[in-house]
Amino acid sequence: MNLNTKVTLFFIAIAVTLMAVLVAISLYAFRSFSIASATEHIRTAGEVVRVHLTESMINGVIDRRESFLKRMLEVQGLRSARVVRSPELERQFGQGLNMESRPDAIERQVMAGGRATFEIFEEDGETMFRGTIPYIATSHGTPNCLQCHQVSEGSVLGAVTMTMSIDGLRDKALWTVAGITGAVALFALLLVLLLRRLLRPISETATAVEHAVQRALDGDFKAHVEQQTNDEIGQIANDMNRLLRFLDNGLNRIGMSVARLTERPATPGENLLTATIDMVDGLSKASHFKQAIEEDETKSEIYQRLSTTLQQEFGRGEFSLYEIASNKKQMKSIIVDGEAADGCRWCDPEILVRPEACRVRRTGHVVDSIDNPGICYAFQPPAEAGERRHVCFPIIQSGAVGSIVQIVCTPDEENKLHECAPLLQVYLRETAPVLETKRLMESLRDSTLRDPMTGLNNRRFLEEYVETLVAGVQRKRAHAAVLMLDLDYFKMVNDTYGHDAGDAVIKALSTVLKQSVRASDLVIRYGGEEFLIVLLDSTAEQACVIAEKIRTEVEALKIQIGSTVLKKTISIGIADFPGDSSTFWQAVKFADIALYQAKETGRNRVIRFTPEMWSNNEDY
Ligand code: GH3
Ligand code: MG
Ligand code: MG
Repeated sequence: MNLNTKVTLFFIAIAVTLMAVLVAISLYAFRSFSIASATEHIRTAGEVVRVHLTESMINGVIDRRESFLKRMLEVQGLRSARVVRSPELERQFGQGLNMESRPDAIERQVMAGGRATFEIFEEDGETMFRGTIPYIATSHGTPNCLQCHQVSEGSVLGAVTMTMSIDGLRDKALWTVAGITGAVALFALLLVLLLRRLLRPISETATAVEHAVQRALDGDFKAHVEQQTNDEIGQIANDMNRLLRFLDNGLNRIGMSVARLTERPATPGENLLTATIDMVDGLSKASHFKQAIEEDETKSEIYQRLSTTLQQEFGRGEFSLYEIASNKKQMKSIIVDGEAADGCRWCDPEILVRPEACRVRRTGHVVDSIDNPGICYAFQPPAEAGERRHVCFPIIQSGAVGSIVQIVCTPDEENKLHECAPLLQVYLRETAPVLETKRLMESLRDSTLRDPMTGLNNRRFLEEYVETLVAGVQRKRAHAAVLMLDLDYFKMVNDTYGHDAGDAVIKALSTVLKQSVRASDLVIRYGGEEFLIVLLDSTAEQACVIAEKIRTEVEALKIQIGSTVLKKTISIGIADFPGDSSTFWQAVKFADIALYQAKETGRNRVIRFTPEMWSNNEDY
């Protein structure tokens, strides 16, 4: 119920109550007035009758009193008039006229009590007023009653009874009350109409404000509240409009900035406020995500966090993360559907060995099969998965596609995927520089741990890796063999054929060494033409066999230097870790002692370390 209706009802209730009270009071007043005036009328007429009777007695014409009473009835308003004699009077003068000798109950009571009585009664549908007034003997005046009547002073001589209709009075009263009531009702009506008119701007402004607020809650701040008056209500409308303009303006600016950041297109009819809140929320989460990945240690941790985010923040279950190798010739599958993987689930595995087959890798653009069905031939979901769409996003690092995020969805999730795509791109833009930095760091680190000429790891690498290596050996309670290798008379090569020839020999040798051991074994360029090999899960005896194989291969190796063919030999010392020494570095030392022995005893041979060598060479 609005204010206008309430006020109207309130005033109508007050007016009706007032009118009811007014009618009641008026009716009561008129009744009292009617009775008073009728009483007065009858008293006066009674007095006239008494004076006339007295006069008739004095003049001796009392016998003609009946015709007088009849004429009295012609007096306006009187309906009947009669006089009765009291018993005392009857005793003195007899019964008198017919009507005078039969008093009714009221007259008898009046004559007995000496007090006038008035009453109202209904007769033939008419409201009648009756008054009965006693005539009381008095000695006042000359002549007076007691001169003729033989009664004592104060005795009742008789009574006069008169009736009159008061219908006329009542009708007048009713008409007057009706008139007053009508006037009051008219006044009240005018008042209510005026009030409604006065209240209309208030209730209309309130309704307009309510609509404006509802629209604002729905994200639309364009509502306008019409200013109807120049008073406080008008001011409210004005202030409301100012507030709405301010909010609309501010929100548009925030919304546009945020939309620029997320590159999210506005959807027509969307709730700008909640959309902006969602966007800001998303941006803040993306910023936390960036902070987290910046503090991650390795690329794989970053990929893992990205995978968790895809699952938890974006509710994605089917996706792939790929990384393109630094040489751009290979692609690696990192995570598929939240699990670490090295194969493809959603794409042709050809892309792993021929990244050009991947459309994102080739173009550097988002590849969206929702907008362009069948856009990428490499997208080949497994038959049991059923129909699927994909959107693949590039993560640009160092100006090229470094990683790829592929999101897969069923056809009915298309819209959901499109909706979250802009925010996902924000995450990926945050990820790109962090991944790039990690990549650069890794390759930089790699370069400090690798010998550029041979591509083998260097001594520094061994120093960093030794802890992991020792822990692995100890955990598995296995053996590792340490081989120390040194070319024989290498200085001669430099001296005779030049430094470049020496380099070529070292490169050729490193290839032989790399090929002679398993991928899990370590081949390290330990010094100039000195190499160290760690054979994992290998005893000294097994290592001797491999070392011997290396020795013969080197012996057989022919290195073409210009027109000449060079042949070199190599000496190898072997120690067992932890068989010979409980510390790794001492095992290295022991291998070196064995190598020294090999040199000493004629070179081009393999010598396994024995404890005597150590005790015999205290100077080491
Ligand atoms: P031995 O049989 O006793 O080992 O005789 P050797 O001549 O090999 O003696 P030594 O190990 O002392 O000599 C190492 C030489 O290897 C010294 C240095 O000129 C040469 N050399 C070390 N690193 C390189 C390199 O990177 N390139 C070239 N060309 N020569 C190197
Ligand atoms: Mg040497
Ligand atoms: Mg040497």
